[in-house]
Amino acid sequence: MSDSSSAPHIALLPSSGMGHLTPFLRLAASLVSNCNCHVTLITIQPTVSLSESQLISNFCSSFPQITPKQFQLLPFDPSTAHSQDPFFLHMESIRRSAHLLSPVLSSPASPPLNTLIIDITLTSAFLPVTSNLNISSYILFTSSAKMLSLCVYFTKILESSTESNEYFEIPGTSPLPISSVPPVLFDLSSLFTCHFIENGSKLVESNGILINTLESLESETLAALNDGKVVDGLPPVISIGPLVPCEFEKSSVSSPLRWLDNEQRGSVVYVSFGSRTAMGRAQIRELAVGLVESECRFLWVVKDKKVDREEEEGLEIILGNELMQKVKEKGLVLKEWVDQEGILSHSSVGGFVSHCGWNSVTEAALYGVPILAWPQHGDQRINAGVVEENELGLWVKSWGWGDGQVLVKGEEIGKKIKELMNDGRLKLKAAHVKDIAKKAIEVDGTSKNGFSKFINSCNKL
Ligand code: UDP
Ligand code: UDP
Repeated sequence: MSDSSSAPHIALLPSSGMGHLTPFLRLAASLVSNCNCHVTLITIQPTVSLSESQLISNFCSSFPQITPKQFQLLPFDPSTAHSQDPFFLHMESIRRSAHLLSPVLSSPASPPLNTLIIDITLTSAFLPVTSNLNISSYILFTSSAKMLSLCVYFTKILESSTESNEYFEIPGTSPLPISSVPPVLFDLSSLFTCHFIENGSKLVESNGILINTLESLESETLAALNDGKVVDGLPPVISIGPLVPCEFEKSSVSSPLRWLDNEQRGSVVYVSFGSRTAMGRAQIRELAVGLVESECRFLWVVKDKKVDREEEEGLEIILGNELMQKVKEKGLVLKEWVDQEGILSHSSVGGFVSHCGWNSVTEAALYGVPILAWPQHGDQRINAGVVEENELGLWVKSWGWGDGQVLVKGEEIGKKIKELMNDGRLKLKAAHVKDIAKKAIEVDGTSKNGFSKFINSCNKL
């Protein structure tokens, strides 16, 4: 794209959790490999999960030309932050250490550093660092454009007295059902909500927002954000997705691909709720019943704990021997990290039961795998709405959030999986989404052009 003598030097600051680290490292890989940029990666040790530290280590060995810089955090007492979530507590700890980043980045570099890309969750704490260093600041938004519109408009919603009880009206975008708004946002004292409000209102101070989505999936929302309809003065929102999975993500992870090699084309449903969602045990048992009753072959990744280091018991303890035997006869069940890209791109996989973490949605789009959306928390119902609108999948809204209030029975799960796997129209629609996703990242595609626009603007600053 550009020769290395004119390419900018860009530093990246990811946040806590695989859902944030993964798109950052894919972006870093692309900046180095496709755009010839000089890249500094700020790494925070220790990480919350084992998967994060393994991924950073694989990344650094695959890209020796990238400069890793360790960022030491201040000691922090979690009891002062009113949250039980280890990932949010870690984000808080990173945010509180923001003033320590300037010395890390101010050492002379050749070429000199000119841009810092900050994760959305760290925005308000780290923007002052970029103005002190006199470098430009870009934000990487790791979720959907629809979620971004909520993030930038949320304070206006709080100030307004005219909101309906059913929808949030965000100018220029389709009405957002209140039932899809992350429940945590109704608790104004929660750590997540405090960060959300601060980050959303500071976005106007950045030079631009990079987003892991693609124009044709969210054109209306992206236009509303870029035309100043949502808020005035927002910097350019540049779509660069789907960020493509890379080779370095594959090493030292389990891969059930050989098992998939022996299954029929499009016959297997892949079931996973991402890197940090532990389903309740009663719901795990119902899901097992549903998978057995679906009469489909399945590849099921089970998580019993939010943080991988804490996983202890085998699945037998949760399901009991009898159900476990039935599960093993009909499919493959794993309780470990898997190569999701390898699975979604495998020809035997014909459907994906997903929590709709945004990375998973973009990966399903890239490989054209229809989704049965089962959002559990956070931005996932908003993302499921994008899936449904684009006919990339089905979504049973009555299944609720994964907060234990609704126990979805196995029989219903089995029926819906059967429907997903036998819906020919949905397969065609998903194949169409795959086409548009591939086009977006090809030469002259909207996301490829997004990358050029970003690099050019870094060079001008
Ligand atoms: N992932 C994976 N193997 C696993 C679980 C997750 O490769 O066993 C990857 C998945 O492909 C995605 C990321 O981890 O890139 C999870 O991000 P997502 O936004 O889908 O969900 P989150 O984990 O943040 O809820
Ligand atoms: N988010 C946001 N503003 C913030 C913090 C988070 O818009 O200030 C978005 C972010 O894009 C993230 C989503 O909210 O993807 C859900 O955040 P969470 O950390 O719960 O989920 P994760 O991405 O780790 O699965």
